[in-house]
Amino acid sequence: MEEQLMSVIGLRGATVFDSTGRDPHRADLRLHDDVIDKGTGPADEVLDLDGHTVLPGFIDAHAHVGLLSLYGQAFWSAAEQAGYVFRNLRESLDQGFTTLRDLGGIDGGVLKAIKAGLINGPRVHPSGQILSQIGGHGDMRPKFSDEPDNPGLGGGLVRNHALCTGPDQVRAAVRNQFRRGATQIKMFVTGGVLSEGDPLESPQFTVEEIRAAQDEAQSHGSYVTVHAHTDTGLLRALEAGVRSFEHASMIDEETASALQRSGSTVVPTLAVDEILASDPAAWGVPDHLLDDLDHLHTEQRRSLTMLHDLGVSLGSGADLIGTEQRTRARQIYLMAKEIGLANAIESATRVNAELLRISDRVGTIEPGKLADLVIYEGDAAEDPEIIGTRPPKYVIQSGRIIRRL
Ligand SMILES: [Zn+2]
Repeated sequence: MEEQLMSVIGLRGATVFDSTGRDPHRADLRLHDDVIDKGTGPADEVLDLDGHTVLPGFIDAHAHVGLLSLYGQAFWSAAEQAGYVFRNLRESLDQGFTTLRDLGGIDGGVLKAIKAGLINGPRVHPSGQILSQIGGHGDMRPKFSDEPDNPGLGGGLVRNHALCTGPDQVRAAVRNQFRRGATQIKMFVTGGVLSEGDPLESPQFTVEEIRAAQDEAQSHGSYVTVHAHTDTGLLRALEAGVRSFEHASMIDEETASALQRSGSTVVPTLAVDEILASDPAAWGVPDHLLDDLDHLHTEQRRSLTMLHDLGVSLGSGADLIGTEQRTRARQIYLMAKEIGLANAIESATRVNAELLRISDRVGTIEPGKLADLVIYEGDAAEDPEIIGTRPPKYVIQSGRIIRRL
């Protein structure tokens, strides 16, 4: 990794995917301090990018840089957890991700450490703890113990779930996340594959409870996004006013149409399946859940295509977990296989920026936007598979070249 400050950088001759809806085209760009500038002119450094592809810095709308182990993270030392979290952040940047929305685990302390320059990392939008009902997807306690599975570290950093019951406890949990620096709230409203005892199709939390979270988040000028694989829970959240959805993996056409009519955004998550499937034993995934995981993966792709065909706004999230989060861009590669590369790139840039409410600054390549860029060797218009199968050659964050291969 190399760090340097340049006041003006010229990018010459690359194929540009600008995420504005325009087709990929050859263009020169000029970066003036931290923003993308109009026109051409002298530069302190010129990168000759003939045969290269320039894209807006990637945004992962569904990250878990602090979720290091599915079972037993509570037994790890604070120092190890911090080390892995910081490495996950640095490596996200190396993969071209200049912004992450973390959907459960880390709190606002991490954000402060990045802003203070103590850690090299993307712009982070933390959620703090994920709200879960008792016995729900986030209740990972041993069945016959009432002790929290991950009590969290005294000074913050990683705390995965907040168990709550009833609108009052939900409100308190939401307020606590914002108190610790969350920028949005994450809630489980259906079952999941890797939690036992709560079927995937079970709705979790009542409409009243979800509405309490949504109302409280709105009071804070923010929003709730919900983990929802299946119909009933998803529709409850929609009724409660939620407009941001994760996974939507196994839904029917009626639910997909309801999402479209409400103007909601769905973040499909495909990349996590690959890492779990590659070595389930290492993840502690029991054998009897392997078929469920496989079925989910097939259903995810079916739902994604249906949502795309109906014109539902699609974000993009890798949902990576663990200590080696090095395949974040696989999400773009896998989505491109279903909906085409240009759409997959727009999902991971412009749409995610809109979802995170930062599209006035990032998400597209346009004059005046922050100079967050990722540059690959090779022309992605000719060879779409370069995205997600090789590391980027340069990563630029706010006009600083922070990676150069
Ligand atoms: Zn997740």
